[in-house]
Amino acid sequence: LPEGEGPKSETRSTCPYCGVGCGVIIASDGAQITGVRGDPDHPANFGKLCTKGSTLHLTATPQVTRQTRLLQPMQRLQRGQAPVAISWDAALDLASERIAGIVQAHGPDAVGLYLSGQLLTEDYYVFNKLAKGLLGTNNVDTNSRLCMSSAVAGYKLTLGADAPPACYDDVNHAQCLFIVGSNAAYAHPILFRRVEEAKRANPAMKVIVADPRRTDTAELADLFLPLLPGSDVALFHGLLHIMLWEGWTDPAYIAAHTSGFDELKALVREYTPESVAQTCGLRKEDLFTAAKWFATSPATLSLYCQGLNQSSSGTAKNATLINLHLATGQIGKPGAGPFSLTGQPNAMGGREVGGLANLLSAHRDLANPAHRAEVAALWGVPDVPEKPGKTAVEMFQAAADGEIKALWIACTNPAQSMPDQAIVRRALQRAEFVIVQEAFATAATCDFADLLLPATTWGEKEGTVTNSERRISRVRAALPAAGEARHDWRIAVDVAQRLESRLRPGQPSLFDYPTPESVWLEHRDSTRGRDLDITGMSYAQLEAQPQQWPQPEGAARGAVRLYENGVFPTADGRARFAALPHRPLAEPRESHFPFSLTTGRLRDQWHGMTRTGTLGRLFGHVAEPTVQLHPQDMERRGLKEGDLVHVTSKRGSIVLPAQSDTGLGLSQAFIAMHWGPEYLSGRSSVGEPLAGVNALTTSAYCPSSKQPELKHAAVKVLKAELS
Ligand code: SF4
Repeated sequence: LPEGEGPKSETRSTCPYCGVGCGVIIASDGAQITGVRGDPDHPANFGKLCTKGSTLHLTATPQVTRQTRLLQPMQRLQRGQAPVAISWDAALDLASERIAGIVQAHGPDAVGLYLSGQLLTEDYYVFNKLAKGLLGTNNVDTNSRLCMSSAVAGYKLTLGADAPPACYDDVNHAQCLFIVGSNAAYAHPILFRRVEEAKRANPAMKVIVADPRRTDTAELADLFLPLLPGSDVALFHGLLHIMLWEGWTDPAYIAAHTSGFDELKALVREYTPESVAQTCGLRKEDLFTAAKWFATSPATLSLYCQGLNQSSSGTAKNATLINLHLATGQIGKPGAGPFSLTGQPNAMGGREVGGLANLLSAHRDLANPAHRAEVAALWGVPDVPEKPGKTAVEMFQAAADGEIKALWIACTNPAQSMPDQAIVRRALQRAEFVIVQEAFATAATCDFADLLLPATTWGEKEGTVTNSERRISRVRAALPAAGEARHDWRIAVDVAQRLESRLRPGQPSLFDYPTPESVWLEHRDSTRGRDLDITGMSYAQLEAQPQQWPQPEGAARGAVRLYENGVFPTADGRARFAALPHRPLAEPRESHFPFSLTTGRLRDQWHGMTRTGTLGRLFGHVAEPTVQLHPQDMERRGLKEGDLVHVTSKRGSIVLPAQSDTGLGLSQAFIAMHWGPEYLSGRSSVGEPLAGVNALTTSAYCPSSKQPELKHAAVKVLKAELS
């Protein structure tokens, strides 16, 4: 080694960005990360990485860390003033004293914990136990509520369990791919590369893409269905209507493995091709082609994401797509099945440990008394509270109303990412005590914190994550923590133990975890006999080879795909058809707000850009925020490329350049979700300062999944007058 250079080492870990969950190999010299490459043995990516994954090491250099990271605990003595550094002991004492005080004065439901699909499973497990087992509140929810709660609800309603039945390898076996509500080319790049390769290898494979926007994903389509925003349920019912009419369903599969088909059949009778073509803005002949390819292909795989999930009809959209698979027997065989893609790297892990307001450990339901009793016994507490917790939107609304008085936010940035920012900011200002546990001091939510707790991040953490195909991978540390940062699970344990001394003094600790593995082992035990049973796995096995759940004790490896025997985890073993009608958007276009605004990802940015925004090269693809409009809409409004426009909804307004995009339909607008306060400022309807596209979005949500309709808001677009 050259003089002065430390020992070189390589560490296998997992990319912290999207739900594909690619394996990475981190090179480090002991002092800093010097490179990253794809892990050739990881089954999610076989060595490939996208632009975000392949530049990870550049986001973790000492220079970037110095500028972006939160490196020591800080307390804001007075709101509106800069925070001051304090010791960890003082910070942990303050956190536990204020939380315990609020619990004692107002009850446990005056506290809310808001977590993240980017936390590791071990972090999630401790937070969930802290809220539901120690504090006695179910007010623990996560930004995964904004990401996949409709997929959870859709799976449970139809298949009986929150378990994606397919896997990435099914892309290579499919003869028909139905990609709906997903721009996988940007949101899941390495999986999309697999789709492209499968199409190249098998040109006969039919690819149908249904999306209001003609995205880069749609460029691969043999059939593109530019459906009107929010019309997905009508589309799926219309396809089933045609399949029934043409005799393309699978009556033997329906009879042997499902229930509720007659009710659904009666419902879809009214979804004629004529009416559906009109509701969806599609051509009748395209509906017939899509129905035929889907139903008659030897194997049809649906890939879907936020276009279905982030909707006030999110559960219905998920469930009615699954109807099509059940009606045609396109499930439980290689290359076939409904396959929801998770946006975040560990949205799945959060579901597994029950890190949502309505769930408990190992896919147990809070509403089920037997499940509550099982979890209470597992944790060694008298009971788990019955009262449902507040979900993401409800939690911030409750804080804005003064009902929730303490917010503890970990690894997520609601001051940018939650819909209807005016409410969120009011919540953060009104709450008596706000803890922000964060790796990045640049996150907008840090500005609202009374107490800032510095957390470790990618390259420094140990634990596990689960990707979209149920595959659990190890996340491993290549470097020690930056500054005084501590691991998220450790911070939760330290606060929990101080809370115990105040709330249950003299009793043995419920949080005696020396390592992340000890947390994972307790989680593993909780899965015994459940649909996601992982009692056959170990950290050591996962380090050598990531595995898909379930893998019960005695099984050498995890299950590649589910329901191959046609038996579903319902009371009678049958999958259930969902007879749910099409419902209109929460906020349809109207004369004063004539555009349908949708939001989505860029290829090279991630969430609020706290990490990707540090790299100039990741702005090469898209350099600045724009609102994209159809060229005819630009012309009608006298807009030229780059003209500044006000985009205004009932909740707020932002100013940004207009850009024409022929991929959009008429009266549609698109703004990327990533741009934060430093790029895109605006005002609420009453003049408060706001930032980003969520100044405009609505917090209306699906009544079943409580997932907000981030994919649609009615807006107007007016040319900005320059003074
Ligand atoms: Fe990371 Fe997703 Fe890119 Fe894979 S596809 S390298 S997980 S961002």
